[in-house]
Amino acid sequence: MDFAHLPHPAPVEGETRAQAIADPGFGTVFTDHMVTIDYHADRGWHSARIGPREPLVLDPACAVLHYAQEIFEGLKAYRHPDGAFAMFRPQVNAARMNKSADRLAMPHIPEDLFVEACRELVLKDADWFPTVEGGSMYLRPFMFASEAFLGVRPAKEYKFLVIASPAGNYFKSGAPAVSIWVSQDYVRAAPGGTGAAKTGGNYAASLVPQAEAIAKGHDQVVFLDAVARRWIEELGGMNLFFVFDDGSVITPPLGGTILPGVTRDSLIQLLRDEGLTVREERYAIDQWRADAESGRLVETMACGTAAVVTPVGKVAAPDYEFTIGSGGPGQLTVKLRERLVGIQRGTVSDPHGWTYRL
Ligand SMILES: *Cc1c(COP(=O)(O)O)cnc(C)c1O
Repeated sequence: MDFAHLPHPAPVEGETRAQAIADPGFGTVFTDHMVTIDYHADRGWHSARIGPREPLVLDPACAVLHYAQEIFEGLKAYRHPDGAFAMFRPQVNAARMNKSADRLAMPHIPEDLFVEACRELVLKDADWFPTVEGGSMYLRPFMFASEAFLGVRPAKEYKFLVIASPAGNYFKSGAPAVSIWVSQDYVRAAPGGTGAAKTGGNYAASLVPQAEAIAKGHDQVVFLDAVARRWIEELGGMNLFFVFDDGSVITPPLGGTILPGVTRDSLIQLLRDEGLTVREERYAIDQWRADAESGRLVETMACGTAAVVTPVGKVAAPDYEFTIGSGGPGQLTVKLRERLVGIQRGTVSDPHGWTYRL
């Protein structure tokens, strides 16, 4: 499908843009353009275009505003030492978006079209690539039900969009260890629910427990399984890895309640490349505490596209608190973070062909 290029009447001028991308932080600065592709049940995907980033006009009966039929993705483009742009495993994000679409009764977007849409936007807004050391271009593809209809059924019309946000170095001087609050009263996902889909509703449900964690003085919330309230699942937007003193590693298994992270999948591979044993196996909160206290557990890492690999330093619940290792970044966490960031930025070899150069 060819993308129509719509002219931008008033792109942000150079000096203002230069200031915006000098140290953009995360999620507040946006580029000049966006990709839009429309879908109708009778026509399929059509009218692919890249044009000015602008407000959307929606009918007040637009289905997404009432029944939350929405899915999204998050991936980054990096600049390699030779100046070329590269995305990290964009086909995996495309495939995951279609899995999310299945769960939310939405149409598939062809994987090539998804990747091409991201590519077009990165190249169109190349001038927006952040100048700060460690910067990247965060891409947010998303799809929502755009039909004006209040009956409850899958919509017949959708829009797929991609917007881009220059992102600074998430943690300027390496990753500081985060402190985590164990949610007692709330769960993120239940068996048979939407936990494996990247859909806004999961995030809506996580805002109260996340706010509780912040109010208690912690950075993030960790969710336990909805049934036994015992098995560790994940953070609001990051997967977890537990590292033991014998060099083995556990990460919670994908069973429909955990989001299958691209970073999670990449770390499993990198750990196995190191010759380490990685088990996708349930791990209980009481075991986590006992192992941290005995010293058997030496590191815990949280991972996701935004923050890459982040050490967990402290875990707290209403009636206990424990520290992991020294409470700071562990050796393996630092090593893996450097390895993955190096592959993404094209400074170390990429044996698995994960980078997609534009
Ligand atoms: C996006 C997301 C992750 C991380 O996935 P990546 O593909 O590694 O960025 C983890 N958990 C949840 C709930 C998410 O939405």
